[in-house]
Amino acid sequence: MRLSLKWKMGLVLAVLLILTVAVLSELVLRGIEQNQQQRMEEQLEKQSQVAAQYVRQNYMTGDERLSAEGFMGQSGRRMALYLAMLSGMPTALYDSTGKETGSSLQTTGSVDYKDTLAYALQGKVAYQTSGDSVTYFAPIYEGEKLLGAVQLHYSMVRDHLFIKEIRNLFRTAGMFALGGGFLIGYGYFYRVAAVIGKLRKASKDIREAAYLKKPPVRRRDELGDLGNDIFYMSGSIEAHIAGMKEEQRKLELAVTKLQALERQQKQFIGNISHEFKTPLTAIRAYIDLLSMYRDDPQLTEEAIGSMGKESERLYEMVDKVLRLSVLEKYDFEQQAEAVALDELLLDLAGRMRGKAGKFELRLDTELEQAVVWADRESLISIFVNLIDNAIKYNVPGGSIVIRLSHETGGDTVVSVEDTGIGIPEEAGDKIFEPFFTVNKDRSRQSGGTGLGLPIVKQLVEAQGGRLEWHSEPGNGTVFRIFFPKVDS
Ligand code: ADP
Repeated sequence: MRLSLKWKMGLVLAVLLILTVAVLSELVLRGIEQNQQQRMEEQLEKQSQVAAQYVRQNYMTGDERLSAEGFMGQSGRRMALYLAMLSGMPTALYDSTGKETGSSLQTTGSVDYKDTLAYALQGKVAYQTSGDSVTYFAPIYEGEKLLGAVQLHYSMVRDHLFIKEIRNLFRTAGMFALGGGFLIGYGYFYRVAAVIGKLRKASKDIREAAYLKKPPVRRRDELGDLGNDIFYMSGSIEAHIAGMKEEQRKLELAVTKLQALERQQKQFIGNISHEFKTPLTAIRAYIDLLSMYRDDPQLTEEAIGSMGKESERLYEMVDKVLRLSVLEKYDFEQQAEAVALDELLLDLAGRMRGKAGKFELRLDTELEQAVVWADRESLISIFVNLIDNAIKYNVPGGSIVIRLSHETGGDTVVSVEDTGIGIPEEAGDKIFEPFFTVNKDRSRQSGGTGLGLPIVKQLVEAQGGRLEWHSEPGNGTVFRIFFPKVDS
């Protein structure tokens, strides 16, 4: 059977109180009994001394010729009655032979006092208890001479009644202590049990991940401390679990990234083999033809031109693939320095103006002075690729403008703007994926590999910059590169 704490504590307190009352009553009753006994002995001793004195006086002032037995026989009854009246106790007198010479008692009763009397006649005080009465014997001497003995009856009825009343009083008190103790214990622990109930609910809430916003109980005792501890524990579990969830989220993100990377790599390798096979197949085909028609000067001429173009393309592809894979893994190639960007762009524009001219394109610059913190070789790669694309994907009679300016926030912006064919909206950011080309044939014709923009993006990010682009198909494209402000 499951007893609740309040019942247990109520019972414990009740039992404790009743035990206390029982022990207390036992001690008090014993004390009273001892006190009654002592008072009784004192009173009996005093009365026996009075009696002995009285008998002695009577004997000395009486007839000298009478023996002690004779005197006791003659005056015993009178003296006994007088002494009984004086002390208020039934009294009897005996001579030295043990014969009763006078008594105020109605009947001697059935109790045998012989032994006790004999004891008194030997000169010793003795008493005997039967029921509610005590019979006391004391010798009476005149000098060395034994005159007899006095017998006193002491009634303990009142004493016993008193004891009984006190005992009843304690019993009533005990009953009250039992009931009161139980009620107090039950009542007090009812409140404690309510607090424990709150603590239990708090721990259940934590188990169900409903973390605490405040301590479940407010008390200035151990239960209050426990409540505070549970509250702090809830906080740290919540933080712990939040941390674990965050870790899990990061891990899932990393796994997704890794999976994407793996897919990209597979695609990359697939693309490489495909892209490499095309020029190699062309070269192999010309070698086969040349071995068959060795003396054909026109074929030889054509083969030299095509094989040269294809091997050039192969070389460029190998170079770019290697750069890209190095860029993806390491950044040791970057050696940042303060670069005067306006000078660098002016120089590049000058060098590429010839190529632009071939395609009947104008190449203009609008450059403010600017210094950026970057790797010079990477900057050259970035802008050569962008200007090259602006030339490749332009239309005859079109133009290219390279602008260098400062943003209000302090960033340096370079834009490469063309009036070319533009990039279709659906291509989106795929243009930064390796080997992506909007139009394969046009790219091949112009010597494109689909690796230029991925390299540009990687290099821009390696300089701490960012890239934006905007295109209107049929109207042209603009690429903007933002370089962070250089702290001077
Ligand atoms: P590619 O070597 O083929 O030029 P890129 O990575 O440099 O490779 O460019 C990817 C594709 O983005 C190109 O094939 C082209 O279709 C498109 N593109 C890049 N720059 C421009 C531009 N300025 N105008 C129009 N299309 C562009």
